[in-house]
Amino acid sequence: MNIHEYQAKELLSNYGVSVPMGKVAFDHEEAHQIASDLNTEKYVVKAQIHAGGRGKGGGVKIANVLEEVKQLAEEILGMNLVTHQTGPEGKLVGKVLVEEASQIEKEFYLGMVIDRATEKIVVMASPEGGVEIEEVAKHSPEKIIKEIVDPTVGLLPFQCREIAYFIGLQGKTVNQAVKLIMGLYDAFVDNDCSLAEINPLILTKDNQVTALDAKMNFDDNALFRHPDIQKLHDPTEEDPTELAAKEWGISYIKLDGNIGCLVNGAGLAMSTMDIVKHHGGEPANFLDVGGGATTEQVTQAFKMILSDSNVKAIFVNIFGGIMKCDTIAEGIIAASKEVGIEVPLIVRLEGTNVELGREMLSQSGLNIITGKDMREAAGKAVEAIK
Ligand code: ADP
Ligand code: MG
Repeated sequence: MNIHEYQAKELLSNYGVSVPMGKVAFDHEEAHQIASDLNTEKYVVKAQIHAGGRGKGGGVKIANVLEEVKQLAEEILGMNLVTHQTGPEGKLVGKVLVEEASQIEKEFYLGMVIDRATEKIVVMASPEGGVEIEEVAKHSPEKIIKEIVDPTVGLLPFQCREIAYFIGLQGKTVNQAVKLIMGLYDAFVDNDCSLAEINPLILTKDNQVTALDAKMNFDDNALFRHPDIQKLHDPTEEDPTELAAKEWGISYIKLDGNIGCLVNGAGLAMSTMDIVKHHGGEPANFLDVGGGATTEQVTQAFKMILSDSNVKAIFVNIFGGIMKCDTIAEGIIAASKEVGIEVPLIVRLEGTNVELGREMLSQSGLNIITGKDMREAAGKAVEAIK
């Protein structure tokens, strides 16, 4: 789960991480009010969406006088912000963070992730801040320092000092950076984060080390023990179909291809996408109806797949273990009656009650392409698109 910058800054400030003074606003009057309560000369108005690259996209603006805040907030609120992370469709801005403008001396990068290779938390930092870290990693990897955290002792101050020196800090600012990095690490561990990123971390003209941006990502599987974090969830940031899927107990993730996949079991769903790709096709989604799906869930799953206008064929790949093949057949028939399936439908059924399921489908009058196994059916699905 992701949260907004303003939420991450609030959380991090409880861990002693220095952040600019500011608050979230939902309309321009409120933005003006917040700004007038700040003790600063200049202000920043920042679009709050779950995507980076807002600065370049026009979602971060500086107001040189208080009166300008209202106008900037009005401009940013309601805008469809397109950044390299939102995709071309962009994201509607519904709230802005109004904060004091910092006088930036230098921008750095600071991030933490759980590294799968070392199975540990890795802290990364770079003197190249404010830019995409992927670019730095590609073109000048020597400008990134990585500190691996031993989980038995946690992040140690000497590692933070190494980071601080590496990015070019000196004197008292080193201690400030150590405090900030330790605070970020504590927040990361306490809240079961999978990623925390401060880009940019800055040194101000008056020698303060501050987090100017904050991105935090939490492990969904650990959210049950963090009700306070769960409350920060913003449903407006989620794909409406993915949200509806959650309510139906279906795992659905939209992808960019054109072959809709309806599968039971996450493992089979993954290998279905693999085999579609192997045949030269592109899956339109990942969809796992689960082990014991009902007819209603299967019908909903069809509706979700069909709500994506990119879908040019549907590949149903079911191995009936707990799930019975006749339930799937019933779902297919019900969905086609309800929503009308006008794209080619390729079905591979195997397992419990398979004969009954096949019988029901063949008597339904639906135009269904069948495959004798997963490989053949996937090939036919890719063929159907051509
Ligand atoms: P994003 O990463 O989405 O582009 P950031 O929060 O990193 O958004 O802001 C982009 C840039 O805007 C920063 O690199 C910084 O130069 C500037 N900026 C952001 N917040 C402030 C602030 N409070 N004071 C001064 N400049 C800021
Ligand atoms: Mg940033």
